[in-house]
Amino acid sequence: MSDILIGNGTVVTLGSQNRLIEQGAVLVQGTRIAAIDTDTALRQQHPGVEYVDANGGIIMPGFLCTHTHFYGAFARGMAIPGEPPRNFLEILERLWWRLDKLLTLEDTRASAAIFMADAIRHGTTCVVDHHASPNAIDGSLDVIADVVEQAGIRACLAYEVSDRDGPAVSAGGIRENERFIRSLRAERKQRAQAGMIAASYGLHASFTLSAATLERCAAGGADLGVGFHIHAAEDISDERDSMSRYGTRVVDRLAAARILGPHSIAAHCVHVRSGEIGRLAQTRTNSVHNPRSNMNNAVGRAPVEELVRAGVTVGLGNDGFSMNMMQEMKAAYLLHKLALADPRVMPGDLVLNMAFKHNAHIIESVFSPFCSDFPRVGELSVGAAADLVLLDYLPPTPQSPGNFPWHLIFGMDAQHVNSTMVAGRWLMRNRQLLTIDEARIHAHARELSQALWKRI
Ligand SMILES: [Zn+2]
Repeated sequence: MSDILIGNGTVVTLGSQNRLIEQGAVLVQGTRIAAIDTDTALRQQHPGVEYVDANGGIIMPGFLCTHTHFYGAFARGMAIPGEPPRNFLEILERLWWRLDKLLTLEDTRASAAIFMADAIRHGTTCVVDHHASPNAIDGSLDVIADVVEQAGIRACLAYEVSDRDGPAVSAGGIRENERFIRSLRAERKQRAQAGMIAASYGLHASFTLSAATLERCAAGGADLGVGFHIHAAEDISDERDSMSRYGTRVVDRLAAARILGPHSIAAHCVHVRSGEIGRLAQTRTNSVHNPRSNMNNAVGRAPVEELVRAGVTVGLGNDGFSMNMMQEMKAAYLLHKLALADPRVMPGDLVLNMAFKHNAHIIESVFSPFCSDFPRVGELSVGAAADLVLLDYLPPTPQSPGNFPWHLIFGMDAQHVNSTMVAGRWLMRNRQLLTIDEARIHAHARELSQALWKRI
C-alpha cells in the first residue's frame, strides 16, 4: 500500500489534541496516519507521494456507531398488518420478531450489504452490530463478516441470544456466538489481529433471558475473554419484568449474573435509576444512546448526562436507523432539550464526545480482546487508524476547535460526505463507492425484501 498525502483541506483532528488546521494535510502510510501538519510543510517533506486534493473541505475522523442491527434493512417501508402497535412490546412482537424469524442467510447477507453501502456513503468507518435471525442462526455471523470484509469497514459482530423462541433457538444463539468468537482466533485471526473484525457475546435483553441462560452465557463469555452486548432497560417493561420475576432491577440483575464489565455494552439504559447508574460506573460497563430509536419507539429519554457525570462511557448508536451518524448527533442534541424543556442540556461538545471519544473508547474495548495493537479511532493523530472522511463543507462563519461541534450539528450532513477511507484504503472517492456495487445490491435487496414481505 503506497503512501497518500491528503491536503488542501481543514484538518479537524478531534482527540486529546483537538486541533483545527486550515490549509492542512494528513499523511497516510499503510493503514495508519504518519503525519499531520500544514499542506505546505508536508508537501515539502514528502514530494513524491500521491497527493489527494480535499478541495478546501474538511478532513476529519470517520464516524463511529456502537449499536446497530443490520438485519433491520428490509423493514424500510414495510407495512405492519392490523392496528398500529401501541407500545414497545407490540413493536417487537408485531414488527421485529416477525421480521427476524423470516430471515434466511441470503436475506442476512443482503441486509448487511445495504448497511455497508449506507455506512460508507455516510462516512461511518466502524460499526458494532447485534444480529438476530432465529431460523437461520448457524453461520449467520460468518455471512455478515464476509460482507463486512468485502466492504472494507471495521465491525464488531454479535448474535443476540434470547429465550423468546424456545430452548433450541437459544442454544443456537449461544453456539453461533461461541463458534464465531473462536473463529476470530483461528480462521479469521489475521483480520481480527489487524483490527478489522471483532465480536461481543450478544444477548437480547433481560426480559427474554432466563437465569439459566444468563449463567450459561456468562460462563461462555468469561471462557472466551469477551464482553457482552445487551439491550438494558430500553423500555419500562424490561424493568417491570425484572422487578416482578426476580425482585431486582435490570442492571443489578445483569451485574449479579456477571454480564457487566469494561468490555460489555449495555445499550439504551433509558429507565435506569441512580443505583443502576452507580453499578454501571463501578463495573466500567459501556452504555450506548440511540436517540432516534428511542423517539421512534416512544420508550422515553435516557439519563445520558447523569450517566456521564457518574463516569459511565456513553457512546452513540443508531439501533438500525440509517448509518448517517450526523443525523443521530442532531437527534441527541435536540431530544433532551425538548424533553427537559431546558436549552442548556446536552450541549454540542457532549454530543461530539459521545460520537467520537466515547464511541472510540467502546470500540477499543470490544476490539482489544482480539487485537493487541488496536489503533486509535475517532481522532486524527500520528499512529492512529487511517480511518477518515472528506467533507465538502464550506463554513459560512469562522470555524474553531471550540465551535466545531455546532458546525457539525447545524451545518453538516450527508450531502457533504465526499470520500471515505478505512485503514488507508479508499472505500468511496468523489461519491463513488469502490468496494460495493450499489445498484446491484439494492436491486437484489428489493427482490429479497419483496419476497420476505409476502411471507409476512
Ligand atoms: Zn438495539
